[in-house]
Amino acid sequence: MTSGTCPICLTNAELTREHVWPNWFLQRMDEQGVPPLGWSLNGQPLLDRRKNQIKGDKRQRIMMPVCDHCNGEMNRRIEVPAQRVVEPLALNNWRGRYKREEWRAFGLWWAKVLLLIGHEESFLENARLNKLVNLNFETKPDLRWLTDGSPVPAHVSVFVYNADFTRSGTEHELVLPAHVLFDDKTSADCHVLSMATPGLGIAVASHPGVVIEHPLVGTGRAWEVLHDPPRRGDVGRLKPVQRDVVRFLRGGGVPEGHVVNASEFSWLTGMFDYQADQLPAPSRVQVFKGHLNRLLPWRW
Ligand SMILES: [Zn+2]
Repeated sequence: MTSGTCPICLTNAELTREHVWPNWFLQRMDEQGVPPLGWSLNGQPLLDRRKNQIKGDKRQRIMMPVCDHCNGEMNRRIEVPAQRVVEPLALNNWRGRYKREEWRAFGLWWAKVLLLIGHEESFLENARLNKLVNLNFETKPDLRWLTDGSPVPAHVSVFVYNADFTRSGTEHELVLPAHVLFDDKTSADCHVLSMATPGLGIAVASHPGVVIEHPLVGTGRAWEVLHDPPRRGDVGRLKPVQRDVVRFLRGGGVPEGHVVNASEFSWLTGMFDYQADQLPAPSRVQVFKGHLNRLLPWRW
């Protein structure tokens, strides 16, 4: 135990190292066998000191120091309601029919996991991997809503689609601005982290003051599960799409009310301030962060 500022509630407290992917999930996945693939970044294998590709015999743990209160609240509010949905889905290539409230619990769980993975205070348990793989957002998201009892904010969205890993090809680039300037002169940051694994593509976006019109939701190929889940549904029944069908890019600063969609106008206005970056080739499992894609060949 150390004392410090809890990255979630921002109070000073005793902090313990908690699992970002919860233990119940990791253990269940590890029971399925060793991870089938080693680690790569942007298509290049990540090597250990002996120049062998880093490959764990169990799922890589991601840890984060949090206070006891936040740990307990996340367990009660997020883990317990999600476990009976996430676990069977993960064991069945994300196929399974669930109800609205169950999809909402699923979405909240992913929001928690991906927003914590992107937080700069979370880290991979393998120190060497942690040095080589940077999954951090450029700025810290405000995560107090996860544990302070407030409702899920309207500005957090979780998009899910049926990822076909035999195909790749980006159809849409959505530019999520880095910063939003509000009419009252305050500002806020946007964050997005996506990943895809066979059967499930998922993107979690925190976008205060910005509207996202997701092109796959508009055409019935994806759902936003945190606020608008289907009454009943199965991700496996959505039309399969390329694993990298939508890429989120990190843009610049925009005024409040900006709309992120697949139009050229949205792309150009969102890109203000944007510094172009080489987009790496897609890999088996992908994590996109801002304008960089973090590629983790990591299959549950
Ligand atoms: Zn806390």
